[in-house]
Amino acid sequence: MTPEQLIRPEIQRLSAYHVADATGMVKLDAMENPYSLPDDLRAELAEKLRDAAINRYPDPHAVAVQQALRQAFGIAPAYDIMLGNGSDELIQIVASALAKPGAALLAVEPSFVMYRMIAAFTGLRYVGVPLQTDFALDEAAVLDAIEREQPELVFLAYPNNPTGNAFERGALERILAAAPGLVVIDEAYHAFAGGLSFLDDLARFDNLVLMRTVSKLGLAGLRLGFLVGKPAWVAEFDKVRLPYNINVLTQVAARFALEHVEVLERQAAQLVAERESLMQKLCALKDVRAFASSANFILFRVPDAVRVFAGLKQRGILIKNLHGGHPLLDNCLRVTVGAPQENDAFIAALCSELGLEN
Ligand SMILES: *Cc1c(COP(=O)(O)O)cnc(C)c1O
Repeated sequence: MTPEQLIRPEIQRLSAYHVADATGMVKLDAMENPYSLPDDLRAELAEKLRDAAINRYPDPHAVAVQQALRQAFGIAPAYDIMLGNGSDELIQIVASALAKPGAALLAVEPSFVMYRMIAAFTGLRYVGVPLQTDFALDEAAVLDAIEREQPELVFLAYPNNPTGNAFERGALERILAAAPGLVVIDEAYHAFAGGLSFLDDLARFDNLVLMRTVSKLGLAGLRLGFLVGKPAWVAEFDKVRLPYNINVLTQVAARFALEHVEVLERQAAQLVAERESLMQKLCALKDVRAFASSANFILFRVPDAVRVFAGLKQRGILIKNLHGGHPLLDNCLRVTVGAPQENDAFIAALCSELGLEN
């Protein structure tokens, strides 16, 4: 008996989620916050972690973390919260719960690759609807596909990854009204989106749940995502969640960091200012087309993305090459907004690669 004989063909066809080795590099590939917590807070956190009971299983519902999230992000008592080991795990939980035989998961393309991968893991039929060439939502195409495919589940990232834009709100509302199934709006980049959110719309749409994560806000290492929705939805999803999915150290550290969320929000505001400055510099470069962003990264197109990506890497700058991932991403690269010196190093290296004056 060989793996080829036993493993489902759709799994054999996948490639594992690739993470580039970033040792010694200026790391601008993964939408991380470049700043750490200030020293005094790190010292306080170390004390809390010292006292963490790692011999015990964690609180299975992480009630204190949920409370801290409510406080930090203004989540009303009318909604329940479910925590995930990263929002990746939440995507998997929601998909598993809805994966009836023949059921469909609809997403736009290009978007977050885990929607498609998790559709494959859970046996959902994946329906991808292309965005327009400027990455705006093709509302008519999405509504057509919804009508035709009747998807049980729709995932929409708001703002979208890897494109950075936030889709038109009215279009999303019309999709919510037309969808026969559940619509998950994934607000992973909420901290950088100038207040754009569907949190206040949960009451209006019975088929809406929201996902967020603390990863992009500065806590990527903790692996903590959260889903917010009406209690009836959350109660069902919670049956699919594995027990103790949020570990003791994450619970302690997340609680502490969320009590100081204003520090993280200040860092996010700095990154938004840096994004604007980086955008100006990119737009000033001949041969570069940068796309508007409401997130902590910028998508841009160059004449030869494979060559530029390799050249930057040679110069110690790691970004993300999206060329080959989707036809609409032809010659596209994605750079995460870093600290000012990192962004300057990126721009200098990019200019050298393109043969331009900095
Ligand atoms: C990064 C990202 C996530 C995953 O976040 P984790 O909480 O780190 O798993 C989810 N959705 C989108 C759109 C993302 O870009």
